Amino acid sequence: MQPTLSNYLLRNGSYIGGNWHNSDNFFAVINPADGQQLHQVANAGVEQATDAIAAASDAFTRWSTQPAAKRSEILYAWYQLLISHTKDLALLLTAEQGKPLAEAETEIQYGASYLQWFAEQAKRMDGDTIPAPSADKRIIVQRQAVGVVAAITPWNFPNAMMMRKAAAALAAGCTFVVKPAQLTPLSALAMAVLAEEAGIPKGVFNVVVGTDAKALGTVLTSDPRVAKFSFTGSTAVGKVLAAQCAQDVKRVTMELGGNAPFIVFDDADLDAAVQGLLVAKFRNAGQTCVCANRVLVHQAVYSRFTEKLITAVQQLQVGSGLVAGSDLGPLISKEALDKVETLVQEAVEQGAKVELGGQRHSAGAQFYQPTILSQVTADMQISQQEIFGPVIALQTFTDEAQAIALANDTKYGLAAYFYSRDVGRVFRVSQALQFGMVGINDGAISNAAAPFGGIKQSGYGREGSKYGLDDYTDIKYLCLGGLA
Ligand code: NAP
Repeated sequence: MQPTLSNYLLRNGSYIGGNWHNSDNFFAVINPADGQQLHQVANAGVEQATDAIAAASDAFTRWSTQPAAKRSEILYAWYQLLISHTKDLALLLTAEQGKPLAEAETEIQYGASYLQWFAEQAKRMDGDTIPAPSADKRIIVQRQAVGVVAAITPWNFPNAMMMRKAAAALAAGCTFVVKPAQLTPLSALAMAVLAEEAGIPKGVFNVVVGTDAKALGTVLTSDPRVAKFSFTGSTAVGKVLAAQCAQDVKRVTMELGGNAPFIVFDDADLDAAVQGLLVAKFRNAGQTCVCANRVLVHQAVYSRFTEKLITAVQQLQVGSGLVAGSDLGPLISKEALDKVETLVQEAVEQGAKVELGGQRHSAGAQFYQPTILSQVTADMQISQQEIFGPVIALQTFTDEAQAIALANDTKYGLAAYFYSRDVGRVFRVSQALQFGMVGINDGAISNAAAPFGGIKQSGYGREGSKYGLDDYTDIKYLCLGGLA
C-alpha cells in the first residue's frame, strides 16, 4: 500500500538560505515496509553544505539581535503549524521510517513540544549580577547565542531529534544547519516548509540532504564559521566527529548510543513492570537509544514475570506502520535486520533460550518477530551491544548489589530503568546507577521539560528542559568599574 503524501510538505531537495536546491543528481527515499521508492531528492554535497553555513552566518546577527519575545512568537507559530499538520507529517514519517502511524503522530507532537517549550525559554535567557570584591565595581553576567550551529541527526526519530536541537538553538538566537540521515530526509524538509510559513527568516534554518555523510560531516565540523556542533547518532561516528571539532575547539553536544538496563526487583509491581518494559522496549520496533537493552529480573520473581511478559508480547501486532493496529513496523534496513538476527543466533549458540519469536517475520523483508530470550549472560554480544530491534534479553540476579553491578557493566550511560516499591531502594539504586537518565517505575522518560542526555560513552550535553539553552549560549562576564 503506497501512501498519498502531502504535496505541500513533500520537497525535492535541500533548503539553503530560503531557497530549494535542485540538481540532476538524485537519491531515492525508500519505504522500509515494502522496499518501494517513495520519492527522489536532490543529492547535496560539500558546495551546498558550505552555502548553508554561509547563509546561516549571514543571518546570525539579525536573528540573534531580535528581541527574545519576537523569536518566541515565531517559534510558537512554527509549533502551531506542526500541530495543525500532524496527520500529514506523521504519514510522511511512517512512509520513510516505518514506525506505526500512531507512534509517528506521537513523535510529531513530541518534536513540536520542544518548539513550544523553547518558545517560552527564549524569554528566560536570564543573566546574573554577582557581588563584586570592591565597591567601585559591578559584575554582570549575560548569556549570548554561540553563533552558527551545525547538527547531524539520525533516522530513528527524523522529526524529534532535529526539533530538539533546532528549537533550543533558534530560541537562544543561533542560526542552524542540519544534515538529517539520508534514509529519512523528507521529514526534515517538511520542517523547512513549515519554518518558512512560520516566518523564520531566510538563512536561520537550513536543511542539507545528501548521501556523502562523511564529506558533509567534514564541512559541518571544520568550517570556522560554525561555532557549535550537535550530533545525535552512534558512538562510533560521534567519536570521529568530536575529534574533527577538536581541531577548532568548537562547542560540542553528543547524544550517542545506549545500552539501557531494565531492572525488576522482587518488590516490584510486576504488571506495571511488564507494561513499562513493553513501552521501553518495543517503541519504534526497538530502535531507540533509550530502549531497554538488558532486562535484569530478580530470581524470586523471574518465572512469574516471564510468564506475564510472554502473554503481553504475544498480543503485539507486526505489520506496515500504515496498517491500523500495527504495534511494530519494519526495521530501518536490511543491515539492521541482519544485525538483530546475528545477535539472536549467537546468543542462542552460547546458551540463550528462545521463549518467543526468534525469527524474521512474514510481514515483509525487513520485519522481525517480537522476541524474548531467557538465560542470557552479560558476556554475550546481545548484552554488550545496542540490539536496536524488538528483542528482550532476560538475565537474572539475586541481590541489589549484583543488579547494580550488572547494570553499570557497560561503556554506555544514557538511560536506565528499574521497578521497585521500596522507597529506600528507589533512592539507593537511583544514586548508584551510572546513567544520565533513570526511569523509576516508568518506561517512558522523554519529554520537553526533562534534561535528555547521557554520560560515559553515551555523550555529553543536555537537550530539553531549563538546561537546554546552556549548550547554545556563551556566558559573558562584564566587569563594570570606576563606580566609586
Ligand atoms: P549513525 O550511523 O551514527 O548515523 C547518524 C547520523 O550520522 C546520520 O545522519 C548519518 O548520515 C551520519 N553519519 C554517519 N557516518 C558519518 C560520518 N562518517 N561523518 C558524518 N556523519 C555521519 O547512527 P544511526 O545508526 O543512523 O542511528 C542510530 C544511533 O543513534 C544509535 O546508536 C542510537 O542509540 C543513537 N541515538 C542516540 C540518541 C540520543 O539522544 N542519545 C537518540 C537517537 C539515536 P547518513 O545516515 O546519511 O549516513
